[in-house]
Amino acid sequence: MTNKQQILKQYFGYDTFRPLQAEIIDYISAGNDCMVLMPTGGGKSLCYQVPALMTDGLTLVVSPLIALMKDQVQALLGNGVAAAYLNSTLTYNQQAEIERQCRTGELKLLYIAPEKLFQSGYLEFVSSLNINLLAIDESHCVSVWGHDFRPEYTQLHVLKTAFPKVPMVALTATADRVTRRDVLKQLGIPSARVFEASFDRPNLSLNVMPGRNRLRTIEDFLKDHPKQAGIIYCLARATTEDVALKLRAKGFNARHYHAKMPAEERSQTQDAFLRDDVQIIVATIAFGMGIDKSNVRWIMHYNMPANVESFYQEIGRSGRDGLKADTLLFYTFNDWLMRKQMVEGSELPNHLKEIQLAKLDRMKQYAEADHCRRRILLSYFNETVERDCGNCDVCRNPRSKFDATVPAQKALSAIARADQKIAMGLLIDVLRGSHNRNVTERGYDKIKTFGAGRDLRAEEWAEYLTQMLNSGVVDVAYDEAHALKLNEISWRVLRGERKVELVRFESYQQKRERAQLEEPVVKSKKEVIRDELFERLRLLRKRFADAENVPPFVVFSDATLSDMSEKRPITRQQMLQVSGVGEAKFAHYGEAFINEILNYAREKTEPGTRVVNGMTYVETFDLYKKGLTPAQIAQKRNLNELTIYSHLAKLHEDGFDVNIKQYVTPQEYDTITDMAAQLDIQKGAALKPLYDALGEQYDYYKLRIALALWG
Ligand code: ADP
Ligand code: ZN
Repeated sequence: MTNKQQILKQYFGYDTFRPLQAEIIDYISAGNDCMVLMPTGGGKSLCYQVPALMTDGLTLVVSPLIALMKDQVQALLGNGVAAAYLNSTLTYNQQAEIERQCRTGELKLLYIAPEKLFQSGYLEFVSSLNINLLAIDESHCVSVWGHDFRPEYTQLHVLKTAFPKVPMVALTATADRVTRRDVLKQLGIPSARVFEASFDRPNLSLNVMPGRNRLRTIEDFLKDHPKQAGIIYCLARATTEDVALKLRAKGFNARHYHAKMPAEERSQTQDAFLRDDVQIIVATIAFGMGIDKSNVRWIMHYNMPANVESFYQEIGRSGRDGLKADTLLFYTFNDWLMRKQMVEGSELPNHLKEIQLAKLDRMKQYAEADHCRRRILLSYFNETVERDCGNCDVCRNPRSKFDATVPAQKALSAIARADQKIAMGLLIDVLRGSHNRNVTERGYDKIKTFGAGRDLRAEEWAEYLTQMLNSGVVDVAYDEAHALKLNEISWRVLRGERKVELVRFESYQQKRERAQLEEPVVKSKKEVIRDELFERLRLLRKRFADAENVPPFVVFSDATLSDMSEKRPITRQQMLQVSGVGEAKFAHYGEAFINEILNYAREKTEPGTRVVNGMTYVETFDLYKKGLTPAQIAQKRNLNELTIYSHLAKLHEDGFDVNIKQYVTPQEYDTITDMAAQLDIQKGAALKPLYDALGEQYDYYKLRIALALWG
């Protein structure tokens, strides 16, 4: 059995396990059944992929998502792991070849769709194989209680009967207690241990903005996220098309996606996004299932989702690689209202309606939070958090309240003068003094408060009126075209008997400007180098990805490129220190990425700016490549000749293409290394004793070269 740590490094290029991974791997490889609950991006795959590689035999991974299978297999192959998938998309010959590889034991992991597994006779075939582990991915699909029930999953219990001795692991990102128990029962492992990781995703920033002027805010947001991939979720199909069109008109690389598009266009759009050819997808919730793209850097919700589960799942699609990602929810009173009416008007039985309304309410609480938003999210998933997160808008800009009695009175007075028949949008026009037709037709331009609220922008009014609604300072009659109504509290405010406190509104633009004043973004030289290099490595990754017909994140994740541009390796040994570079990735891409880093260093190195460690070796190497002799290099670089020889020796040791054999004869090599062996000279030791022992017969440089060749 191979050590799990070694496998993690060799194949996946990582140094440490994430929380629970090591424990789960030990538990599985001891032959036990278990369930793994981790949020999207938590690192579930390694929990079965590492055990799969620790022993002989084949790991069977049952997965309902055909699109994902291909990506996962590609990723494994890229890491040098023999893997394949079997589903309805394969030709007869392809399938026969994979079956052959199963029989010969060449394969380590086989991904299989449940419908394939239960095709007649197939289970017998599988039973004849040497199976070491059964992994059930997206296992919540087994349960009717789960949100994505798949009938073909219910037969999976036969697996445990067919392989009573083989450990089984069920994995999922979402399962409440009822679903969880049901999943285990359905799979025939009712008493399996459950490993539950925290659902917190601290790298996702949480932000909410009022939904006025969404496009303007989106534009500003996108300027802060140049070239970064992201998804804008909308409720309606028409909105996706409209928003994508408007963004394109502004020069953004955006496309829409929804379930009513022709299948071909859908898959083409998804593909373009996976391949980083399209930066922005404006989509309904139809988009995202089965997308494993690890470098989604932001998620926006143009409209409010129906519940916290969906919201969390959708924002969870960003930042899977563990790097920072931003989420932004637009919240408007109307969105909430529309959702509410959708539930109320639906055919659902009353008790289900109540549940859905309660869920919608929790979503509203998140949107209106006046304390840490992450605490609200996690408490929804029954996790208690001791501290505020520091990575949500509320934590970063604690709510500042102000005395809003005067503006509130202006609004309430306008409502009264409009006979309580005015809805929010029109009220804002009146307060702002707009002479549009709706206003003038009703004679609202004649009332006393017309234009009394010009000092506030429309979006500010929308925000403050929403806050007034939420705190009960004013009511709304849904059945009278959303007319605003005065209540007991409203009258007390109007009479000056009660004060109104509201939370100050700041637009995205204002927040951004303030943040920049507080913390000016002046990049250090080091950060400039890192960012520039990241961009170059990203382009190189894209070239490889296109040539190999895989998505860029399959070549290297953003996290890997980021670590690479931070560490800037120029040797094999250094490159293998980069997180995510295992043996196979190094063999395949190592040299090209090192060359890119070297080229960048050659361009950018100047007095006072060090791009890579050991640039002096690189300079020697470049002159050597031009055909200069060590003596000429020494002269040109104004360095000692011995120094140049030791540069060349070091370059050779680091895997650069330097022919140092030419500097010693075979006899010299033999004599020197014989003596080194006798004296038990270690690598890197001082050369003087060797020099003396050889009777001062050989130049120091020859000693250095011979020892480098000796290895
Ligand atoms: P999940 O299936 O839970 O959504 P994945 O298994 O796809 O998550 O892992 C998400 C990302 O995290 C992948 O890019 C994966 O390579 C990376 N990852 C997993 N485990 C580790 C680890 N121990 N160290 C660094 N990165 C990891
Ligand atoms: Zn917070």
